[in-house]
Amino acid sequence: MTTSHADFHIVLTKDAVAKIRNSDLNGGVLVMKSIPSEELFVVISVETSRDVRVPVDIPTEYSKLRWGDITHPAQWMRPSRPDLHVRHRAMIRRPGTGISFEGFHELVPGVSDPGNGLGLMVTHDPGLSVEAREFGASEFAGWLVQRTGVEPISLVIEPEVVGIGQLASLWPIEQLKAHSVILVGCGSIGGAAAEALAGYGIGRIELIDPDRFLWHNMVRHVLGAESVGRRKVDALKDHLKERWPNLHVETRRLDVVADAHLVRPLVDGVDLVLCAADGIAPRRVVSHLSRRAGKPSVLACVLDDGAIGEVIRLRPTPRFGCLLCHRQHLSDQGTLDPEADQELAYGTGQVHKPMTAVPPDLHYIGTLMAKIAIATLLESLHGDHTQRLPGEYALLGLRPARLYQAPFDLQKAGEIRWLSIPAPRPTCFTCGSA
Ligand SMILES: [Zn+2]
Repeated sequence: MTTSHADFHIVLTKDAVAKIRNSDLNGGVLVMKSIPSEELFVVISVETSRDVRVPVDIPTEYSKLRWGDITHPAQWMRPSRPDLHVRHRAMIRRPGTGISFEGFHELVPGVSDPGNGLGLMVTHDPGLSVEAREFGASEFAGWLVQRTGVEPISLVIEPEVVGIGQLASLWPIEQLKAHSVILVGCGSIGGAAAEALAGYGIGRIELIDPDRFLWHNMVRHVLGAESVGRRKVDALKDHLKERWPNLHVETRRLDVVADAHLVRPLVDGVDLVLCAADGIAPRRVVSHLSRRAGKPSVLACVLDDGAIGEVIRLRPTPRFGCLLCHRQHLSDQGTLDPEADQELAYGTGQVHKPMTAVPPDLHYIGTLMAKIAIATLLESLHGDHTQRLPGEYALLGLRPARLYQAPFDLQKAGEIRWLSIPAPRPTCFTCGSA
């Protein structure tokens, strides 16, 4: 009994499963593509009627499963013995166990003699008993057939539903599918936020960014060398669609400041706006447009060369002011460092410098930003109290080496401080009568 083949796996895509299930035969030929270095076999054709072999559909996104051109003949059979798959299950739990070729031949008389080679078989038992299923037996089973013995091997079967839909009983996929957001800024934080929004199951994302993806962007970005030179919005769209084919992604090559009049009507069409754009002006524009449109927004950046991350949630209610109200409040408290070269000094017009932060810190901020956006939608629009956040304003310690004034005086990496934001100033142009 050899045990060196115990890690062989046979892949059956949905289409291969359907072709075997629907065949009137009790067995036939399978052709498998073999990827020896991976100990992997992929069923690429099924004999569905006598001498009719039909190619199996392998979706293009499963690119590894379409590798190589070494093919391997194999068999599929419907066993007459009802306990075969129970035995398969029992044996696969005990590595190294198997059946003699003669013993297997008695259980599955149609098995071909592998000679001195290696035979592969998939058995299909459509009539498994409830007891057999409870024991863990499956409709399909795989076998490595050699003269020296027959071993059970594992099948990798494509499920009916793959992707985010698999979480339907665990997470409000259906609610989130109906929602849409604008993401302003498709840089390092924005790219990570977009991936996280897709992973949470948001239905539609509008990407807004005027810039191209260049070499110096690559080290911190979810995009890689394949995207160099492209518009960030288009490259990010392709990246997202590859992983989340059902996500709706719109792209706008707009500058949120210069093209604010074009962004304004877009805000009306979404449920929330995220801003991960560099600089103070885009954040002010997003704060203003979303407030006037009565939509919540979430703004994220890193301060002081990546020492601290900041995520602000702005909700258009009488309880909470806008970005300018918030900044004025900090300034009134005397908390902002007045030094002109300090990134914390928003009010001086200095831009913050995400390019000095390390990539996972930026992705961490992007992911938290998406979490805050999704939690806001679920709580405010669906009353999901499990998604209530501790506050409106999160400060995160990334590399808090220096001594800052409150509220920026985080001491530890990984520390998260949640704060509120003040009510609107009576004179605020943005908050106005909102
Ligand atoms: Zn305001």
